[in-house]
Parts: sequence; C-alpha cells; structure tokens
Amino acid sequence: MDTMHALLAVQDLDTQGDQLRHRRAHLPERARLDEVVTELAVVEAAGASTTAERDDLARRQADLEAELAEIERRMGDLDRRMRSGTITAPRDLQAMAAQIDAMKRRRSDLEDAELEIMEAIDPLEATIAELQDRWAGLDREAAELRVTVAAAERTIDAELAGVVEARHAGAESVPTALLATYERLRQRLGGVGAAPLVGASCGGCHLTLSAGALDRIRRLPPDEVATCEQCGRILVP
Ligand SMILES: [Zn+2]
Repeated sequence: MDTMHALLAVQDLDTQGDQLRHRRAHLPERARLDEVVTELAVVEAAGASTTAERDDLARRQADLEAELAEIERRMGDLDRRMRSGTITAPRDLQAMAAQIDAMKRRRSDLEDAELEIMEAIDPLEATIAELQDRWAGLDREAAELRVTVAAAERTIDAELAGVVEARHAGAESVPTALLATYERLRQRLGGVGAAPLVGASCGGCHLTLSAGALDRIRRLPPDEVATCEQCGRILVP
C-alpha cells in the first residue's frame, strides 16, 4: 500500500472510531435510563411529601385518641363518684351531671374530628401505595437498563480497541509530517482530513473539481500531496 492509501486507511479507521464513540455516547438505553432516574427522583419526592402528610395526620389522630381516652377515664371517675352515694348535696350532683354532659359533647366533637382525619388518611394511603408500585417498576427498569447499557458499552469498547490498534499500526506507514497535517485538517473539518478523489469529485466535500485542478493533481509528482481546492482536505487520487 502506498503512503496516500495508507493515509486513507487511517482515515477510515478514524471514522470508524468516531462512529463507535458517538454510538457509545448516544445509546438510546442510556437516554431512557436518564429519564427513568429523573422519574425515580420525582416519584421519591412525591412519596416523601405524601408520607409526611399521612404521618402528620396519624399523629393528630393519636393525639385525639389520647384525649378521648382521657375523657372516658374522667367520665368513668365522675360516674363512679356519683353512684357511690358519698355525694349527697343535689347541687354537687347537678354540677357533676353538667360536667359529664360537657364531656360527652367534647367526646362527640373529638370523634367527629377523628373520623374526618381517618377519611383524609385513606386516599393518602392509596397514593403512597401507588407511588411505591411506580417506584418499584421504575427501579426494575433502571436495573435492566444499566445491564443493557453496560453490555452495549463492553461490545463497543472491544470493537473500538480493535479499531484503535489497527489505526496505530496503519499510522506507522504514514510520514509524520503528513499525519500531522491530516490530524489538523481532521480536527478542523468534522473528522475528515483525507478523502479519495471519486471520478472528478472530492470524496470529502463531494464537490466536482475544475478541469484545471484535476489536471494539476494528475501532474503532481508522486511525493507531492494534493488538496481539494474547495474544502482543503488531502485528496488521494
Ligand atoms: Zn473537497
């Protein structure tokens, strides 16, 4: 293989390497994984705030139940004292009966409040269960995607290692100065620094060369490097 065709082979391998790196960076499974991770965070945040809301109501319910128990206890005490026969003054008995009536009203209010809280808790429990299901589903999907992404990366990395090795070996047949020019052009011109002449067209920019340019290229001594007059890439006749 002559120098110029060795350079074209390097270009081919560089293009293959670029494509593999691009494919590795843009795996659709990784894009989906990013989405799933974002969704997981959203579901987790929603779960945390709903759970906090539920816990707050549960604490209020426990407070109400404690107060209800205390009222029951005091009502029982009063009832026992009234029935004990030790209190005989009608005024005292009347006052105690009024206290019991007041406590019954308070008890009824507390029971209503507790019922209201229990009714508010029910839908929150349902939401929490639903969020937990969604979280579990997303977590499973994320785990599967991580496995798929890792496998795809391994496959690409193996292929890339072969391409990089072949590229290094191929570059040994290209003179250093030419390789440096090629690298510079490749960097500046979207990854393509050298292109074959295809008929009368540049394989890099696909424009047709003028008859004069073609003629000049054909007459170049073999150690001279031709370039495309349109794009400036190294042109290999
Ligand atoms: Zn060109």
